[in-house]
Amino acid sequence: MSGSGNLGELSIEEASRLLAARQLSSRELTEACLQRIEETEPKVGSFLEVTADLARQQADEADRRLATPGDAAPLTGIPIALKDIFLTKGVRTTCASRILENFTPAFDATVVARLRRAGAVLLGKVNMDEFAMGSSCENSSMKLTRNPWKLDRVPGGSSGGSAACVAAHQALGSFGTDTGGSIRLPAAFCGVAGIKPTYGRVSRYGVIAFASSLDQVGPMATTTRGAAMLLAAVAGKDPLDSTSIDAPVPDYAGLVGPRPEVKDLRVGIPREYFVEGLDADVETAVRAAIGKLQDLGATIVEVTLPHTQYAVAAYYIVATAEASSNLGRYDGVRYGRRRGEEQGLREMYGETRDQGFGAEVKRRIMLGTYVLSAGYYEAYYSKAMRVRTLIRRDFEQAFAGCDVIATPTAPVTAFEIGSRTDDPLKMYLSDILTISVNLAGLPGMSIPCGLDSAGLPIGLQLIGKPLDELTVLRAAAAYEDSGHWQRTSAELRA
Ligand code: GLN
Repeated sequence: MSGSGNLGELSIEEASRLLAARQLSSRELTEACLQRIEETEPKVGSFLEVTADLARQQADEADRRLATPGDAAPLTGIPIALKDIFLTKGVRTTCASRILENFTPAFDATVVARLRRAGAVLLGKVNMDEFAMGSSCENSSMKLTRNPWKLDRVPGGSSGGSAACVAAHQALGSFGTDTGGSIRLPAAFCGVAGIKPTYGRVSRYGVIAFASSLDQVGPMATTTRGAAMLLAAVAGKDPLDSTSIDAPVPDYAGLVGPRPEVKDLRVGIPREYFVEGLDADVETAVRAAIGKLQDLGATIVEVTLPHTQYAVAAYYIVATAEASSNLGRYDGVRYGRRRGEEQGLREMYGETRDQGFGAEVKRRIMLGTYVLSAGYYEAYYSKAMRVRTLIRRDFEQAFAGCDVIATPTAPVTAFEIGSRTDDPLKMYLSDILTISVNLAGLPGMSIPCGLDSAGLPIGLQLIGKPLDELTVLRAAAAYEDSGHWQRTSAELRA
């Protein structure tokens, strides 16, 4: 390390060790991140709000806990950032939407409360696609976030700020949400580790809802073990979220251990995920990563997920239907900034929603309302729900013959800013390899597995059985320990 400017490059597990040994203070680490944010924000643009005062206060409090034996948790003193979809008491929460631009929550999301209790330091709220609808972060109504690896590229979405801030070493870790790939896709594009846990693994109380049967919270970090530590701090039953699962939370990072083995694992490769449209560099890197798992002793088996081709269509019906209902509350009365010189209630709703929502959000509300309307419900929504069942069954059958499934996270690497904004369908196709996992409610992770010819990160996706995040993390850590790991963007180092 050559000075405090590089402290932000520490992994969470390294920083946690140094903090516990009192070789580093949280204040020092936090100041390094704040300095890094100041230096790199003009280029990257991850943050919607930097909570510097709060961070310093929490860092000092963490240092007091770290000085008292037995008082600290593994995350005590670790600086992190949160997607602006998590309600944070007293800290503005916009979901990157104009309609919530003046919204300051009166309470914390359960995830936030758990992180505060663990002693994590909140650096701020980061950018996203408005209401988490998008694959590139370009649907934010607030600002543009750039990919730290190459500033003319998107960071991926919707949790683009969460991935960019970790890749740029502005924060050691972050949290995002994943409804159709929104943790895994940006993690892949920005070369960081990101895990979407099993549906219900993490509480969504206080997380602004997009599509409630799909939404799930998860962490990002530069390393698998870092992500595992973040996950362990927030996972588990929450009485305030009836969809959260009452199952014990393993000590993920501890159980992954210093030398994870994959010799007992059967890794399934679904042929439907290696089809046309898959970038050649991506295919080469992912196949090489699978080869690496085999070298490490895993058994590679071919599996089939025959309904994969219907996933994008089914998802964009289910997700928009649920969104059209969830977004009804932003009407200028219950939530949302009221607009216009209204003449009456109808006009007030109309004005508020017309001015408050961006184009993609409006498109989704219209699509969702259409697929749920009388006469079309059977043809669209109900059919999509049946397809969803078939997709879930595909995975059940595949997992009869393997323990974890490996695929590319995305068919391409980070694309150029502006290159897909005019064509919603093309944008939706970015999610083709991540969406089935949400429809089936499974845990899925993306870890970096190399670079393409333009020097952009490529993601390896690992999919697990329900509640089996540990096997996913173990396979990821074993792969990561084997070598192929790029941690710092050349462009930002320069
Ligand atoms: N890109 C997908 C969408 O736009 C997924 C978003 C998400 O996971 N939040 O709906």
